[in-house]
Amino acid sequence: MTSGRLAVLTGKRGPFEFREFQVPDPEPGAMVLKITAAGICGSDLHIWRGDGTLGTDMVPLGHEGTGTIYKLGKGVTSDHRGTPLKEGDRVVYSGPIPCGRCTICLEGHNSRYCPARQKAVLGQFPYFRSTFADYYYVTPTQAVFKAPDHVCDETLACVNCAMGTVGMGIEVADIKVGQAVVVMGAGGLGLTAVAMAKARGAYPIIVTDRLQNRLDLAKDFGADITINAAELPTSAERVAAVKKETGGLGAHVVMELVGIPELVVEAVAMLRPMGTVMEIGSFFPGKPVNIDLSTLVGFGKRIVGSSMYNPVSLGNTVDFLARNHDRMPFDKMVSHRFKLDDINRAFQASEWDQKSSEVRRAVLIP
Ligand SMILES: [Zn+2]
Ligand SMILES: [Zn+2]
Repeated sequence: MTSGRLAVLTGKRGPFEFREFQVPDPEPGAMVLKITAAGICGSDLHIWRGDGTLGTDMVPLGHEGTGTIYKLGKGVTSDHRGTPLKEGDRVVYSGPIPCGRCTICLEGHNSRYCPARQKAVLGQFPYFRSTFADYYYVTPTQAVFKAPDHVCDETLACVNCAMGTVGMGIEVADIKVGQAVVVMGAGGLGLTAVAMAKARGAYPIIVTDRLQNRLDLAKDFGADITINAAELPTSAERVAAVKKETGGLGAHVVMELVGIPELVVEAVAMLRPMGTVMEIGSFFPGKPVNIDLSTLVGFGKRIVGSSMYNPVSLGNTVDFLARNHDRMPFDKMVSHRFKLDDINRAFQASEWDQKSSEVRRAVLIP
């Protein structure tokens, strides 16, 4: 029987330690993947750092990644669109495992919101439920899509969290042709948001970040205007800059993709009346912000949260990537590659709290 490694976070800021588990045979309808690349998501960094009230005791981390089919369970002959599958094929899978039978599931919501969704428990069957590992077990209820051949492993690794989450967020924010959009943060999430907002016909697309090299890349993805937050250090200056670029009105949609809770106040100030803040970055509990609600009520503004996606939206994101991978510099979205063995070094290099990291997005290769 084959065994594989699984990286486990042992405490705040690590270290990760490796556990070895037997790779289970897939049950009927399931499949086992051999991980080809796993993305280090901003949320992994928040957990590693212990932000808010996030626990860090013996967590199997890693929820973003993809792989090739190592073993197919009985009865699996195609992906969820009917495309034939065989062992060795690369696939993208939907991360959340909804129960499929509760009211939230039946109402057709985002799979992440199912209160009875399955969670990874260290040391319990099927053991490989996280992507910082050699293998990943896909249950029969997780949607799977055959990966487009021309998309590289590194980019594919970012589809089932970063890109899928942004795809869902853009859908929920309902960005329309000609609308002014601000994207806060030009990391993996922000670059994807720029690409998708552009495809929807948004104008202007304004991107804020503290690092010029990230802003330059955002321009290559289609950003019309960039604001270097290191040059405009106060919130008031950045709000004024957005107002200036939007005829004094502000943006229709601001996407908060940085994960600094206080930024939501700035995001609201950047909106025009009836505008929407799409809050994605600050997913962690325990860091409340002070907000004057009259800044919403008096102008019909909305703050909407979104986390991950439903399988239909993820499939749309895979298609978007297939169509745009060669037209946009997606190959530059991942800036650093580390061996899975070097996971501790990879997290230290990706850390951006209180400073600016050169790492846009790192992936781990087993
Ligand atoms: Zn459910
Ligand atoms: Zn994530």
